[in-house]
Amino acid sequence: MTQVVVVGGGVMGSAAAWQLASRGYGVTLLERFVPGHTEGSSHGSSRIFRLAYADPFYVALAARALPLWRRLEQESGRQVLTLTGAVDHGPSPVVKELHDRLRDAGHEAELLTVDQAAERWPGLRFDTDVVFHPEAGRVHADHAVLAFQQAAAARGAQIRHEVRVARILRRGAAVEVVTAAGEVIHADAAVVAVGGWAPGLAAETVSGLPPLRVTQEQPLHFPAADALAWPSFIHHSGAALPADFDVYGLGSLDGVKVGFHGVGPAVDPDRRDRSIDPAARDRLRAYAEHWLPGADASRPQATTCLYTLTPDHDFVVDRQGPITVLAGFSGHGFKFASVIGELAADLVAGRPGAARFALGRTGADAAAGLD
Ligand SMILES: Cc1cc2nc3c(=O)[nH]c(=O)nc-3n(C[C@H](O)[C@H](O)[C@H](O)COP(=O)(O)OP(=O)(O)OC[C@H]3O[C@@H](n4cnc5c(N)ncnc54)[C@H](O)[C@@H]3O)c2cc1C
Repeated sequence: MTQVVVVGGGVMGSAAAWQLASRGYGVTLLERFVPGHTEGSSHGSSRIFRLAYADPFYVALAARALPLWRRLEQESGRQVLTLTGAVDHGPSPVVKELHDRLRDAGHEAELLTVDQAAERWPGLRFDTDVVFHPEAGRVHADHAVLAFQQAAAARGAQIRHEVRVARILRRGAAVEVVTAAGEVIHADAAVVAVGGWAPGLAAETVSGLPPLRVTQEQPLHFPAADALAWPSFIHHSGAALPADFDVYGLGSLDGVKVGFHGVGPAVDPDRRDRSIDPAARDRLRAYAEHWLPGADASRPQATTCLYTLTPDHDFVVDRQGPITVLAGFSGHGFKFASVIGELAADLVAGRPGAARFALGRTGADAAAGLD
């Protein structure tokens, strides 16, 4: 049996472990922290799931992820994805483009006026035009990671927590994975999915990784009685909001989560102090006071989480010899995790990957699609 070691038990490594185990590989997943830890990028009760991207490549990728989330739910017996729809609002050209890309790909999408939207979702205040699409909502992040790991274990994968990998060495066509405790694990292939730690371990293991910027982001949760019924939303900057001030949000078990996209400070994941930036918190609170009349802006709860940003915000999903790398999910990867696991297993099986997600890619690859 072909043996694969997956390094990193966040959502991407866990999804890869599930897909690999489903295809009959012998899988060992090594995660340095305890189950449910909050050190990386995949913890908490919510992430946005949506199909609406201005880029048809990502619309197609999200559409591929949806049935795989449902398959995970069936196999694990856990509810992971809840569809409450999504609204995008902001400058008319941005909203129109999202609408058109959804329709081009055969998905339902509805353009609404501000008044129509306000009547339908009184908890939100709207800016210029609005597009709604129903195949969207939230993924429960902690449940998703657990479900992937449980489903992988049910198919024979070994899931080992509190095992830090120190080095991954190529040995001909195979690999040797060395843990911090000195254990050496021999395998035919490795999948490296170490999130914010990719600039260390992944960069030491493969060449051509784009420069990665790791930031600490700080969304807030605001209480709202009907939070679980809220659509996910993106308020695009450029009309009522200043440029580069995009805001995302969604209902969750912890209230309405709201955040700015990718504005946090660069951090070293091993040395961040998780302190909350009061100025950023106050900006978000002021946003909620004005734009979210259905949430209680006076009682925010902050949480922190890591983004790992590539310069083009495209992911890295590629293979070099026996090593497959999943990295740089740039603050929008969670919704795709179910399909990223599938792409990772395809790479391990020797199928080509997407040029768009390649190591050592150039700008020209951005136009390339996925098979
Ligand atoms: C605030 C915030 C909001 C977000 N919102 C959304 C959203 O709404 N929708 C969306 O699609 N995406 C969203 N994202 C992005 C999404 O959460 C990430 O893209 C995704 O979680 C990345 O997963 P990962 O597995 O790559 O990284 P991680 O979850 O960080 O997993 C990497 C794992 O590797 C482990 N590890 C590291 N080094 C080692 C080692 N040496 N040995 C063993 N294990 C190791 C770490 O402990 C960690 O568990 C958001 C991210 C943040 C921070």
